[in-house]
Amino acid sequence: MKIRKINSISVKLGTLLFAIFFILIISIESILYLFFVNFYTQDTIDELTQRSYAFAEVLSNHYDETLLNHAGLIESTSSKMILVVDNTGEIIASSDNIARLSSDYLDEVINHGYAGHGPIIASDWKNEDFFVAQSFIERDNQAVGKVLMFSPTDPVRQAATFLQKTFTVIGFITLIISALLIYVTSNKVVQPLLKIISVTKLLSEGNYKWKLQTKGSDEIAILSHSINQMSDDIQNYQQQRTQFFVDISHELRTPLTYFKGYVEVLLDGTVTSEEDKKKYLTLLNTQSGQLQRLVQDLFDLSNMEHEGFTLHQTHTSIETVMVNALDFMGPSIEQKGIQVNVQLSRTPLYVSGDEYRLQQVIINLLENAKKYTPASGEINISTYQKDSNCIIEIANPGPGIPEKDLLRIWERLYRVDKSRARKTGGSGLGLTICKKIIELHDGKITVKSEEGIGTTFQIMLPFYVEK
Ligand code: ADP
Repeated sequence: MKIRKINSISVKLGTLLFAIFFILIISIESILYLFFVNFYTQDTIDELTQRSYAFAEVLSNHYDETLLNHAGLIESTSSKMILVVDNTGEIIASSDNIARLSSDYLDEVINHGYAGHGPIIASDWKNEDFFVAQSFIERDNQAVGKVLMFSPTDPVRQAATFLQKTFTVIGFITLIISALLIYVTSNKVVQPLLKIISVTKLLSEGNYKWKLQTKGSDEIAILSHSINQMSDDIQNYQQQRTQFFVDISHELRTPLTYFKGYVEVLLDGTVTSEEDKKKYLTLLNTQSGQLQRLVQDLFDLSNMEHEGFTLHQTHTSIETVMVNALDFMGPSIEQKGIQVNVQLSRTPLYVSGDEYRLQQVIINLLENAKKYTPASGEINISTYQKDSNCIIEIANPGPGIPEKDLLRIWERLYRVDKSRARKTGGSGLGLTICKKIIELHDGKITVKSEEGIGTTFQIMLPFYVEK
């Protein structure tokens, strides 16, 4: 259905171009034709008028027999004819070739507009056989006769027919060539479009192995490139989605397996001592806490990825955010024997931020720092100003993150050391949420890490601007 629609575009385009060519060619040829024919006719008429005027002038000055005979002789060898008549219309001299004209025709010409003064009596080359020019012979300011000159219209008619035939042939050939060119060109445009349609159709059916050619830099190549890009994006998205479902099922299955195991042990009566029962119940409590955290993080993330999600941004002090997060995390970090060095900016730093969400980011980073810092290690925290941004840095010693994983730690559920991370209770969604929150604040979060030495997270947030 759609393919036919595109074909009809090529037909429409071709017809339009052809019509434009057709009108253009016909117009140019008509203009040329009229120009040549008018030029030729005018040239003949001018010459005829001049000659009849010249004879009439000579005869006006020297009116005698010899001159009259001479006048007749002059034109007898050319295709033109001359006729000299007196006031009464009597022929007093003529060239020999005048005998070709019938007496009726001559009568009509001689008497036509005798009283008139126009030099051209006949100029219609299509319907008359001769152009006729007249000039009066005058003596003492009185017309005593006139000189009539004839020139056949045949050559003009022949030239006009020749031009018509030539222009028809040229026009025809030009139109055939332009039709062919239009066909080839519109095909060149439409063929890639048809290819694009078939590939996008395959894409919509989930077949991603076809790629469009992207040679050149025209609009078709750009469109093809965008479609290839879109195909890759969809493919990636689908792979990520499948991976996410695999990961999330795994995440849920592990604690649920523990759950089932502990509950079965408690139910089947093998555990009798209160101490052991307490141990299993504590394990159950830890696992359900982790599960709860995972579900909460998933809920948070899906909320944030939702189009309509908005932050509650106010004039937020970075110092307040840091102090609150440290109050919350500080005791548990110190309990692990880790020292926390804090160096907050002396100048107060303000951002347009959601205080609760920013605290959530810092707590998350502190939790990670605590997890990976060995006992008796030191976590260094600092805030400072750089250009028109607030910078927050949290650095901790520890195993570090291998370079190959540095880009991937922001992905959902990605963990460097899966078994270890799960044991330490992380959901694998922490950094994804942190990145999302910082980006919603128009900020940036980056990481630097060296294996076996430590890791530093840096957050950059734009200063608060009064709106
Ligand atoms: P988790 O809940 O597993 O901590 P995160 O998204 O917070 O998930 O972190 C992703 C992974 O990044 C972690 O599993 C860990 O491998 C690595 N990571 C995060 N922070 C640190 C850190 N401070 N030191 C070393 N590795 C870290």
